[in-house]
Parts: sequence; structure tokens; C-alpha cells
Amino acid sequence: MRKLIDKLYREANLTDSELLDLITNISSQDREYLFECARNKAREKYSHNVYLRGLIEISSYCKNDCYYCGLRASNKCAERYRLDKSQILECCKTGYELGLRTFVLQGGEDMHYTDEILVDIISTIRKSYPDCAITLSLGEKSVTSYQKYFDAGANRYLLRHEAYSSDLYSKLHPKNLNIETRLDCLKNLKQIGFQTGCGFMVGAPYQTYEHIVKDLRFIKDFQPEMVGIGPFLPHSDTPFGEEQAGSVYLTLTLLAVVRLLVPTVLLPATTALSTASEDGLVLGVRAGANVVMPNLSPVDNRKKYELYNNKLYSNAESAQAKAELEKRIKSIGYEVVEARGDAK
Ligand code: SAH
Ligand code: SF4
Repeated sequence: MRKLIDKLYREANLTDSELLDLITNISSQDREYLFECARNKAREKYSHNVYLRGLIEISSYCKNDCYYCGLRASNKCAERYRLDKSQILECCKTGYELGLRTFVLQGGEDMHYTDEILVDIISTIRKSYPDCAITLSLGEKSVTSYQKYFDAGANRYLLRHEAYSSDLYSKLHPKNLNIETRLDCLKNLKQIGFQTGCGFMVGAPYQTYEHIVKDLRFIKDFQPEMVGIGPFLPHSDTPFGEEQAGSVYLTLTLLAVVRLLVPTVLLPATTALSTASEDGLVLGVRAGANVVMPNLSPVDNRKKYELYNNKLYSNAESAQAKAELEKRIKSIGYEVVEARGDAK
């Protein structure tokens, strides 16, 4: 197993069957070795830096019906809200004062936000904070819309591919959503010039190790600037409400593998990971993650943005909460830096 890990470290690649062997059979001892290799690789590229992204959850309305997500349109119990331009700018202001230099606008696919509204919001943030990166995570749009957002000043886009295998994709989504459209969106984003992020949930219902190998192969081939990987967590008001949560250990293993497959990747220790494990943040960084996404959404709205039950918030709403975060990162030998943190 160590030979495989060394090869992955050296060549930033393995065959599919080697990847399958690695993720299926790794022992807890070898996993520690894998994490060490992933940390070394992250350090080669980004030193001991950990970058912050201020997450602004702009809307809990969604027209889609992904089976796993608490915001799905069919969830009549979900409380809905949307932020207007002035509320979003207020979040940016709070974030900027705390030293955050990336704002992530994330939300359900909410048709209230026309391209015109979004372009107005993006260009105002761009003018007000010329030194900051603007990341969008607003789902599938036409290439024309993506281009408008880019021209307005957005720099990055997160759109998890969710499942590269179409058989799994179709078990997680209704018929109107398919992997082909998703991959087209990702290609368009990259072509336009966005720093692009894909990714998937670990331990989603019906997901096998073979599916995961296909996801890893896609990530290796696509060469995204960012990858979002977190455990699947059930939401009681969805069709998957009774399903088991994804494994924290497997999530950490996959973070490390992705760090080694795409050495320059910007890799968050996700909120889902921190929700699944109290030490998720620290464990994630120890497995090769180098990004944390503290929540900047207005406090009253946060519990309404419930993708899964018990969603936690890595806080940044106060200087005190940020100091706490910095302390935890520092305790494992890393440093939170005030920088945009673009992909190398
Ligand atoms: N609507 C946008 C952004 C919001 S959802 C989109 O879908 O891209 C952001 C991510 O949350 C999704 O990509 C999905 O991978 C994750 N997510 C949704 N429900 C989840 C759940 N039950 N457990 C873990 N992650 C979940
Ligand atoms: Fe909507 Fe995104 Fe949730 Fe799917 S995952 S229902 S697109 S918010």
C-alpha cells in the first residue's frame, strides 16, 4: 500500500484499479501515511497557508428537486428566504472588515435572480472590493449567463459534478437533471475563464467505490482549480431522510487523494465535514485541505439554508469567532492568511 501511495505522490496519478485498491483497502496506519504525503504536497504548493472564503447563502429557494437536498422544491417544510442586494453587500462589508478576501455567493436555483439582478450585484461588489475574489455557486445556467457574470467581475464558480456515472447521477436526481448538462456547464465555465470547482458527496445513497473511482478520474482529467468534497448527510424532509451519513474517514481519504492527484487544487474542509465530526476542520487540513469557508450569511437566515439536518456554521460573524478559528488552525502548525488565495 505504501508503494501505491508513494507512486501517487510522485506521479500525481494512479490507474483506476490502483485507485480502487487504495480507497477500498487502506488501513488506518497507511491512511496516516497518505495524509502526511497530502500535507507535504499542499505545503510544496501553498506553504502552511489556509485561505478563508466568506460564504453568503443568498437564497433558500430552489426550482430543482435533487433527492438529497433539504432545499429541494418539493420540500414544503423548508423555510424560504432570499437576500437582496443591500443585504448581500452588508455581508461583504462584515467579511471584508474581518479580513476575508473572497466572497462566495451560493444559493438554490432561484429564478428571482435574473441575469440583470445578478450582474448588478456582482458588478457592485467588484467596484466596492477590487482586491477581492468573487465566487459564484448558483447552479446550472446557460453559457451566455455565465459569460455575463464573468464580464461583471466574478472570478470563480463552484458547481459540483455530484456523480460522474450517469447511473448514479440519475439515482440522485429527477429525470430533468443529467450529468451531460452538468459537464457541459463545467466545460463552459472553464472555457470562459472562471477558476472552476467540481466535486461530490461521499457516501451518497447507492454510491459504490467504483463510482468514486470514476469521480476521481474525472477530477484528474478535468483539472479543476477547486474541488468540494464532503460527506452526504441526510435531511429528514427528503426522499433520503432515512439513509446513512457518509463516512468521515472515507471523506478524509478522498481529500488526500485529490490533493495528490491535483497538487495545486484549492480544497476546502467543508461545512458538511465539520458537521459530521467535531474535529472536521482540523482533520480536513491534516488530510491536505487548505481552504475554510466561514459563514457570513445573516444569522437569522442561517438555519433556513438547511441542505442537511444539523448543519453547522464555521462562524466568522464576530472577530472573536474568527480568532477561535485561527487558533485551531495555528494549533496544528498552519496559518490563516488574509489573501485572495487564487489557484497556483
Ligand atoms: N444550488 C447550488 C448550490 C447549493 S447546493 C448547487 O446545487 O450547485 C451546494 C452543494 O451542497 C451541492 O453541490 C451538494 O453537493 C451539497 N449538498 C446538498 N445536499 C446535501 C446533503 N444532504 N449532504 C451533503 N451535501 C449536500
Ligand atoms: Fe437546489 Fe442545489 Fe439543493 Fe439541488 S443541491 S436542490 S440545485 S440547492
